[in-house]
Amino acid sequence: MVEKYDALIVGAGPAGVAAAITTAKGGMSTAIVERGDFAGSKNMFGGIVFTKPTAQIVPEFWKTAPIERRVIEYQYWLLSQESHVQINHRNQKFVKDFNSFTALRARFDKWFAQQAEAAGALLLTRTTVTGVLKNGAGQINGVETDRGDLLADVVIACDGVNSLVSKGAGLHDEWKPEDIALAVKETYSLPKDKIEDRFNVRGDEGVAVQFYGGRNEEYAGFLYTNKDTISFGIGAIMSDLAAFETRPQDILEWMKSHPSIKPLLEGSSLREYTAHLIPEGGYNKIPPLYTDGMMVAGDAAGLVNALNFEGTNFAMISGKFAGQTALDAKKAGSFSKEQLAAYRTYLDGSFVLKDLKKFRDVPRYIATHKQFLTFYPEVINNVLYKFFEVDGRPKEEHLKEIKDELYTKRGRLGLLRDLYGIYRRAT
Ligand SMILES: Cc1cc2nc3c(=O)[nH]c(=O)nc-3n(C[C@H](O)[C@H](O)[C@H](O)COP(=O)(O)OP(=O)(O)OC[C@H]3O[C@@H](n4cnc5c(N)ncnc54)[C@H](O)[C@@H]3O)c2cc1C
Repeated sequence: MVEKYDALIVGAGPAGVAAAITTAKGGMSTAIVERGDFAGSKNMFGGIVFTKPTAQIVPEFWKTAPIERRVIEYQYWLLSQESHVQINHRNQKFVKDFNSFTALRARFDKWFAQQAEAAGALLLTRTTVTGVLKNGAGQINGVETDRGDLLADVVIACDGVNSLVSKGAGLHDEWKPEDIALAVKETYSLPKDKIEDRFNVRGDEGVAVQFYGGRNEEYAGFLYTNKDTISFGIGAIMSDLAAFETRPQDILEWMKSHPSIKPLLEGSSLREYTAHLIPEGGYNKIPPLYTDGMMVAGDAAGLVNALNFEGTNFAMISGKFAGQTALDAKKAGSFSKEQLAAYRTYLDGSFVLKDLKKFRDVPRYIATHKQFLTFYPEVINNVLYKFFEVDGRPKEEHLKEIKDELYTKRGRLGLLRDLYGIYRRAT
């Protein structure tokens, strides 16, 4: 006999587990179907997880979760070919009340899924969903898997960026190359005391670093400190990689040999190499989020704020709202498209769609105005070099050179236009 659940969740990543905890705690019989050997076995990210969204799903999670380090300092680096300008923010408030923490997904997702099991959900690992099932009225009422069919009142697709489930339900096509980033990550072993000295942290404190600039491709680099490893990688927009005939590894190698970055990895040994896609199309590319009998959450729905490296929080909170909508639907006795439209209303009212809507045009604007990737990082580095340089010449000459650098290369009008362009889209 085919098994039937109230709620069937595909994927045991942050979105799926948050959805499962919500439906199971609300009294729905819940199963999560996960293709990996265990939750997290196939997953990778940068990465940091955010405290407050996680605590909404598992209150006081820090007492049991496998946290690597609590982030007390955020760094932004603007790279030029052989220099960088760095903006750091370290705050004692982050020490007392941490805003985010570094994690390794194989450990974190496994723990997170255990919380769903503790709430009453059934976790079916080593089971790959291959399609959706529909009843006579065309409403989704289950999934096909490589181990047989499973039925449910409602399916929540949390199967990540390639979401076979939402494609199978006809909700969206393949992502376009300009809307997807290919990310590669290397994990390096480095003794705990070396990490503490190098990054000026103690105990379980950590830092999160983001790198931009110095390349023609639209990319962002990252470095995160874990207990005794360092996560280091880049994500670059696929269409840019194709246009510049670059592989993500080329950018990573360039970063590793950059004179400002090289010392950060010195003496470490490569432990792991992984690659993954990130949906970065933003608000304008979000597919339909629900249909009769089904909702889509997390990366499967393209809910990622690429500007700020936020994805796990969007996944957890969209998963929670999908779970809440399922509970409301059960109470109402209908899982129709009209009833599940409440999911979109929940998301519209939260940071998930508000943030994505607010910054909807920024990624495309930067992608089509390459001066933000190359010219400005270079100029900012040069301006600061000239500002600090003491060479026996009067400061007036230095100032003139700085002005020339800014005005001649981009023009006063160009500078004003760029400033206004960013201001209009980001505020
Ligand atoms: C390099 C990189 C760096 C990142 N850094 C950060 C960061 O620092 N902070 C942050 O917040 N976000 C970061 N993100 C984004 C973040 O990882 C994602 O937004 C988040 O993991 C999305 O969660 P999810 O549950 O929607 O999907 P996923 O985490 O991808 O989980 C999907 C799950 O579904 C399973 N699955 C897939 N298909 C099937 C199927 N057919 N049948 C059964 N199971 C299936 C998978 O095995 C997986 O467990 C990063 C992403 C990348 C790639």
